[in-house]
Amino acid sequence: MLSLRLKKVVAMTATATLLFGFAGQSKASEGDGKVEKRFTLHLHHLHTGESIDVVYRVGEKYLPDAIEKLNYFLRDHRTNDVSQYDPKEFDLLNSVMVKLGKPNGVIDIVCGYRTPWSNAFLRGRSAATGVAKNSQHMQARAIDIRVPGVQTRALRDVALSLGSGGVGYYPVSQFVHVDVGPVRKWTFSGRGD
Ligand SMILES: [Zn+2]
Repeated sequence: MLSLRLKKVVAMTATATLLFGFAGQSKASEGDGKVEKRFTLHLHHLHTGESIDVVYRVGEKYLPDAIEKLNYFLRDHRTNDVSQYDPKEFDLLNSVMVKLGKPNGVIDIVCGYRTPWSNAFLRGRSAATGVAKNSQHMQARAIDIRVPGVQTRALRDVALSLGSGGVGYYPVSQFVHVDVGPVRKWTFSGRGD
């Protein structure tokens, strides 16, 4: 009886060691970057015709070279001015694609960063372009997107479900504005940009 109890204790100790051993190993390989999650984006810019495929984040770390490439890619296509995007906006695009079930799908970019000049130009071009005076595009926190093969309405619903910021629905121009500003939503029934 005593020997049986002893065996049990030995077995439990062995299990505990095994568990701790695995935990330590897993932590170690996280440090090596082997089991950390990789965040990718595949973008095509409809105005510049450029495409980009990047791993921009591994685990909690944003990769500076990739972020720089994305910032250049999303430059104001009218003035070529580059800004520093809030990296959460990249996470938002990534989450949209994951939620759509297309983690490796391409996002068409309708508009990225906008200088105050470009924003004023767009606002002045027509009485109703749906362009806000203090647009989040000027803060490099907004991107207008389209996903080939996905209805604009479905894309909007996925963006809304994330609750990550502003979501603008532009059914006529067939794109969705997603930003990491305050959570809000709107629909613009005219032709936006
Ligand atoms: Zn927008």
